[in-house]
Amino acid sequence: MKIKSKIRIGLLFLLAIIMLLAASGSYYINTLADESKDILKDNYNTLHYTKNMIEALDDSNKAMAFNKFETNLIKQENNITEQGELEATKIMRSAFDEYKSNSEDYNKAADLRSKILKIQELNMAAIVNKNNVITDKTQRAFAYITILGTICFLLSFTFVVNFPKWIAGPIIDFIRGIRGILQKDYSTRININSNDEFGEMALAFNQMATQLDAWEHSNLAQVLFEKSRIETIINNMQDAVIGLDENKSILFINPVAESLLSKSETDVKGKYAPDVAAVNDLLRTLIQELLPDGKPATNPLKIYSNGKESYYRKEMLHVKGQTANGDNKLIGYVIVLKNITEFKELDVAKTNFIATISHELKTPIAAINMSTKLLKDERIGIANNEQKQLLENIEENSNRLLKITGELLDMTQVETGNIQLNISAVTPTNILDVALKAVAQIAEQKQITLNTNLSNNLSYINADVDKTVWVLVNLLSNAIKYSAEGNKIAINVYKYNGYTKFEVKDNGIGIEEKYLSRIFERYFKIPGSKTGTGLGLSICKEFIEAQNGIIGVESEFAGGSKFWFQIPNAA
Ligand code: ADP
Repeated sequence: MKIKSKIRIGLLFLLAIIMLLAASGSYYINTLADESKDILKDNYNTLHYTKNMIEALDDSNKAMAFNKFETNLIKQENNITEQGELEATKIMRSAFDEYKSNSEDYNKAADLRSKILKIQELNMAAIVNKNNVITDKTQRAFAYITILGTICFLLSFTFVVNFPKWIAGPIIDFIRGIRGILQKDYSTRININSNDEFGEMALAFNQMATQLDAWEHSNLAQVLFEKSRIETIINNMQDAVIGLDENKSILFINPVAESLLSKSETDVKGKYAPDVAAVNDLLRTLIQELLPDGKPATNPLKIYSNGKESYYRKEMLHVKGQTANGDNKLIGYVIVLKNITEFKELDVAKTNFIATISHELKTPIAAINMSTKLLKDERIGIANNEQKQLLENIEENSNRLLKITGELLDMTQVETGNIQLNISAVTPTNILDVALKAVAQIAEQKQITLNTNLSNNLSYINADVDKTVWVLVNLLSNAIKYSAEGNKIAINVYKYNGYTKFEVKDNGIGIEEKYLSRIFERYFKIPGSKTGTGLGLSICKEFIEAQNGIIGVESEFAGGSKFWFQIPNAA
């Protein structure tokens, strides 16, 4: 039954009780009123008639008295209500008839009077009797109404006490159930087996909880499965992987990392990485950049493990993820150590090969160069114009070959970490003069003006003169190479933040932004550049950084380039 109907029935029940009380009360009041009316109507009338008859007897005007008596007697004869009243009235009639025949007879008058009094007594006794009956009935009615009122009160009281509980009880059950769901207790169920809306709601709630429970379990199983799959992948990786949370506590390390760190995962899991790093050199190197003022470790890392030296490239990933409120914040770090020993060995072999080849080529090329110079000497013989042109070509190409082999040799020096530095306190002007002299001829060939702009306060710098000159020459040669004929190149030298900064600014073809980040990489040439090895700028970088300097570029495509480097000032 619907709650609406139940409430309606409840209210009707209360209404029925009120009606029952009202009906029974009015029934008893009506009955008592009717009884009382009878006394008034019947017995009172008889007393009134008999009183009139007695008065008529006392009247001296006999004719009128008889008439009055007769009238009241007739009324009395029509108002017989009590048992024995009919006989008494008949006796009174015959006594009246006798009195009428001899009205002077005192005895007859007294007899008639006694007959009238008899009827009066009869009716008065009836009044007393009826009064007793009414009193009795009134007490009984009072008792009935009291009992009925008590029953109605008890029923209404029970109803009033239980009805709100009956409505609120299921609501409390629902509140408890919803709280359970909010706390992810999907085993919560509501037991209401009624056919009303509460029953339907409980059924729907229980179905929802069952589905949530199933969903939660399937989700959990899925999450656990995904977790174990990722763990298996990480554990089977050939690279060492170390995971830290956002507070730098160790979350996991895979078997390769275990063997490199000589620590088992159970030993370090959950520990604060800097604490573990305090007693583990390799971990200290790996998390260096996460420590205050720490710099990232230089790649590749040479690590001795399993009885041999291996090379690893370290990558530190800052993992970001979405929090519950949608923010994208740091949730941890993953350190990956990639084993590059094989590539390193190949690289070393390549470097050695290049070093050997360039070294071996240098002598014959130098010999060719020397021979060409000798051939050009008129003391050896006068060459005709065509021969002179050929000799020029040979000299030019052997110079280019010498430059390339020189660069390759420098490169091998850099790659093997064998840069021999000869640092001394020199003036920037010294370096600039040598470099300008070296490029003067090629600048002249393209009618390019080199404008130098030196600040007045220049002082000594700590530099390897040869290497720094080499870098400046390289930057100037590139600037000339990529500028149009007749262009201007500005060379600015000034003090900057404890360094002396050299800038070479051209108005040449410029460099597209997408290539700027790769311009200092080894063998990198901008697509379309035909000449060169792509080694010049990478050697410049190595030479400058070896002297604790910084190198950089700013450029706009078709808007010229500005290459610069900074060398620390001498104290
Ligand atoms: P290379 O020795 O082959 O010139 P570099 O390392 O010196 O190699 O230069 C790398 C690339 O950078 C070149 O291929 C060239 O395209 C570009 N580049 C260098 N300097 C300039 C410059 N001043 N203006 C425009 N492009 C330049």
